[in-house]
Amino acid sequence: MYKQSENTITHTRCKYHKDYYCTDVCLSCIKVICAKCRSERHTHHRLELIETFYQDKRIELLKCKSTLETHLQSQHAQATDEATLIKISEDLHLEHFEQEKQKVLKQAEDLKQRISERSHKLVDQLEESHQTYKSTTQNKFKLKITDQNLKPK
Ligand SMILES: [Zn+2]
Ligand SMILES: [Zn+2]
Repeated sequence: MYKQSENTITHTRCKYHKDYYCTDVCLSCIKVICAKCRSERHTHHRLELIETFYQDKRIELLKCKSTLETHLQSQHAQATDEATLIKISEDLHLEHFEQEKQKVLKQAEDLKQRISERSHKLVDQLEESHQTYKSTTQNKFKLKITDQNLKPK
């Protein structure tokens, strides 16, 4: 029993010449051709025997496949690494974010406290200075009146 796949590759009848089997691959046209095609339309084209072509292609395909697999594997590994890193950094960020949030809230609270303390102090100071001002003017006024009263007419 012979291999079926080998048989189909090397024993394909030509599309244009039903009596001929395809024997070559025209590399210029990327077409499977027969001996008649070769002499009619592909005389100066780059040709290769189907067997050689398929054998080469098979090796190339295998090479491609393994390269692709390695690439996919490394990409997958990289993707997993990235996902882990993102997860870690997200966790860290969240933790950090919470800390920062608490810090900011604490600062705001402190600031609010300080502002209210300060404003109370300011109000007190204003009140005090106003009282001083009032009493001074009142005193001056009183003094003025007394001065005028004392002046002889
Ligand atoms: Zn042909
Ligand atoms: Zn050709």
